[in-house]
Amino acid sequence: MLWRCTVCGMLHEGDAPPEKCPKCGAPAEKFVALTEEEAQKIYTSDRTNDIHMEIATLAAKIVKLAQEGIDINLDPPCVSLFKQAKDEAWVIKLRSKAEIAGHASRGKW
Ligand SMILES: [Zn+2]
Repeated sequence: MLWRCTVCGMLHEGDAPPEKCPKCGAPAEKFVALTEEEAQKIYTSDRTNDIHMEIATLAAKIVKLAQEGIDINLDPPCVSLFKQAKDEAWVIKLRSKAEIAGHASRGKW
């Protein structure tokens, strides 16, 4: 069974809610049991959201690497390629973050 803290949104798995919320300290009575449908949405979207987060992290690494390449400034084609990679990685990062935000707003988190 899945429980959600109505104060901060923290999730808890178990037969009963926790004595107090590990995130905000709210007491057990502040937790509500999720419906089967709500819980299913959360379980089925968990891995996908993790993948989006990892893609965003990797894209941030590309942005950093590309910036290092730009700073080294070996020759114009290289700098141009790094600038392009940096811009593209930034879009990848923002796209995945937007998708996660969209999931969260629809209960898929
Ligand atoms: Zn809480």
